[in-house]
Amino acid sequence: MSTPIAPSSSAAADGDRRRTRVLVVGSVNIDDAVRVQRFPGPGETVGARSADTALGGKGANQAVAAARAGAEVRMVGAVGAGDGGPLLAALDADGVGTAGVARLDGVPSGRAFVFIDDAAENSIVVVAGANRAIPDAAVQEACRTLGPGDVVLLQNEVPAATSRLAAGLAREAGAAVVWNAAPAPESSEELVDGHDLLLVNEHELGRLATLLGAADIPPALNSNSGTRPAAVPRTGSEGTAPIRPTGIETPVDRLVAAVAAATGADVICTLGAEGAVYRVGGETGRAAARRVEAVDTTAAGDTFAGYFAALAELPLRERLRRALDAASLAVTRPGASASIPHRDEVRRLNA
Ligand code: ATP
Repeated sequence: MSTPIAPSSSAAADGDRRRTRVLVVGSVNIDDAVRVQRFPGPGETVGARSADTALGGKGANQAVAAARAGAEVRMVGAVGAGDGGPLLAALDADGVGTAGVARLDGVPSGRAFVFIDDAAENSIVVVAGANRAIPDAAVQEACRTLGPGDVVLLQNEVPAATSRLAAGLAREAGAAVVWNAAPAPESSEELVDGHDLLLVNEHELGRLATLLGAADIPPALNSNSGTRPAAVPRTGSEGTAPIRPTGIETPVDRLVAAVAAATGADVICTLGAEGAVYRVGGETGRAAARRVEAVDTTAAGDTFAGYFAALAELPLRERLRRALDAASLAVTRPGASASIPHRDEVRRLNA
């Protein structure tokens, strides 16, 4: 299916690497984030600790993460002409190019209702709004200037046809396609062919394996009961989080390898506090996350995706370490795009 994103052998120093150009084709939402002690049960009303409105949407969060990681970022998407102004202003403030974001009359911007409880778990309802109507012409126009070395970053909060159009044009131009298959596809109609790298969490990995007919899913995987790899030892706030090649040992490793074989693409599966399992350039390995006190995991996966896409010039392990560190920092702060760290904060962790 693809040209794998293999580990680079030239360890480009951070200061002298070219800024990776990242094109994000995806969702832009108004996030209404409500903090609660615990989620309400059916028929129950609970009081909120606080409520905030901010920029969100997987596409926008990943664009912000890639920009804060140091990439040159453009975004293709759609917002409502009436309510989208603050969303575009927030993207502009992070230096994300918004010329490719259509302003649609008579349609509201996408909106996400995000509930976060005291255990830092979240529960989210999304209204797609303008995200459903990204004009093909906006995708075609933005893809005209793509070339080798560029990265196109896709998720699943816009129609699959839009993502497939972008993936096809990106491949014709020689750009790398990174597909964060989140939220998990409901059916095989939502699969995006032609990606070089797949980013998923455990749940999305299981769903993709089923849709691709790639493997029998171990029954315990979706119940999250003890099938996670024994993680490499995690570090505290000091020191380097370990990343090392492993054999294919656990059910998650097997699924990652099976999905990689079925798609021909590299695969990284993030595992929350346990870090990630990767199969990149034929190497399977495990990467630990930093030990942190999580306050809000919203946008953890988006931070990982944006950083990983942005750091395409770095060798694989350095790229993984920074993306994992950035995501672990993000969970220590409330909010979606607001929680995403800048590259200097991530660099300082390992200084
Ligand atoms: P979300 O949907 O909440 O954005 P996700 O399910 O896509 O997240 P996760 O696998 O939960 O993604 O997390 C992505 C990365 O964030 C992890 O690989 C890790 O680096 C970091 N992370 C998440 N939760 C924690 C935690 N409790 N402690 C440390 N790091 C974490």
